Amino acid sequence: MVDDFAREVEAFFETLPAVMDAAGSREMDKVRALRGAMAKARLVGFGIPEEYGGRTDIENGERRFQELSDGRMPREADRLGIGLNMALPIILQYGTEEQRKRFIASTLSAEEVWCQLYSEPEAGSDLASLRTTAVLDGDEWVVNGQKVWTSGAMNSEMGVLLARTGDAPRNRGISMLLIPMKQPGVEVRPLRQMTGAAEFNEVFFTNARVPRDWVVGEVNDGWRAATGLLAHERSSLGNVGADDKREASGHAAVPFHYLRALAERTGYSTDPIMRQDLARAFTGEKLMGWVAQRKVFPSVGKLWRTKQSRFVSETAARMTLNSALAQEVDDKDADFWRYFILNAPRMSIGGGTDEIQKNTIGERALGLPREPS
Ligand SMILES: Cc1cc2nc3c(=O)[nH]c(=O)nc-3n(C[C@H](O)[C@H](O)[C@H](O)COP(=O)(O)OP(=O)(O)OC[C@H]3O[C@@H](n4cnc5c(N)ncnc54)[C@H](O)[C@@H]3O)c2cc1C
Repeated sequence: MVDDFAREVEAFFETLPAVMDAAGSREMDKVRALRGAMAKARLVGFGIPEEYGGRTDIENGERRFQELSDGRMPREADRLGIGLNMALPIILQYGTEEQRKRFIASTLSAEEVWCQLYSEPEAGSDLASLRTTAVLDGDEWVVNGQKVWTSGAMNSEMGVLLARTGDAPRNRGISMLLIPMKQPGVEVRPLRQMTGAAEFNEVFFTNARVPRDWVVGEVNDGWRAATGLLAHERSSLGNVGADDKREASGHAAVPFHYLRALAERTGYSTDPIMRQDLARAFTGEKLMGWVAQRKVFPSVGKLWRTKQSRFVSETAARMTLNSALAQEVDDKDADFWRYFILNAPRMSIGGGTDEIQKNTIGERALGLPREPS
């Protein structure tokens, strides 16, 4: 039976091609146009109260929307993970009423895109040793320091910043601030990866300003919200699965059927050793999907996704290296595999390294003794 919600979704998909055609040619223009159209059609923020720009009148809205979209959502839909999956739940959970009213709707519609300003040159896995400072000056915080590996900073209006606001050591003197990125005191410098893309950046703060009230949680007690955000990051990374729509987004494992097609094309589909690895990749994809569905401890999902991606990339590299040391300029397939093979190692690092995920599982899920600090 077609209900009102299904009709709303159909009406949205009827107008979508015109929206996407009218959007600029840059990927972020398309992301923003798509998200803006979804917000206008009230197809975002399911489960989030209406006063913040969401809607609560549709039960299991997110799942129903996905089912009804039936593969019709453009790939750009997945490019706003930091805002939607990390900043937004943290502002809902720890933010003030004023912060929710100010940021949730604009995040849902991608009028404001977010980045995560945690890592520093001397503070990655050991985040509590971060040194960026924020000092109160009247009604504003004044921020100085440097962040690194900040994904998407070049496209962001806002950042979730961890900064030292007190003298207490380690994680006790840290606050979480919501910082506007488009201001004179913020300089974003791109970092180029071995894939050729420049998806992350160094960010320098020189007397950058943040309104006094844009601290999430208590001043000097930002660690709880900070680790809460990391758990959201790990679950969203682990939940990605292998999905046709996301294969080029850099966050997902390539679907098995791509690897099988590659084996057929390169003649490896009859090679007994390679067939064993194809079977292993197929099994890994199934397991990863089931792990994601069971909503296990976030680090477990993330480790599975990483393991699967690396295995698929190594297998693809063995199939392609003999023939693809040189490629034609317009060979899209070779380009796709080149990007994926060079991109896979980063999955073991971004969102917390494999070793840190294992420490987290040992200490927090299994209750093993903590690492000596
Ligand atoms: C693709 C990508 C995107 C990223 N995006 C962002 C972002 O948007 N925002 C942001 O803030 N950061 C981001 N990062 C940074 C990322 O969070 C850090 O790189 C990561 O936390 C590791 O920190 P590090 O690079 O300083 O390595 P280090 O912490 O110096 O680690 C070096 C090595 O030592 C190991 N190690 C360290 N401590 C331990 C320990 N206690 N036990 C066992 N082994 C240990 C690590 O596993 C690693 O192998 C991104 C990184 C990547 C690769």
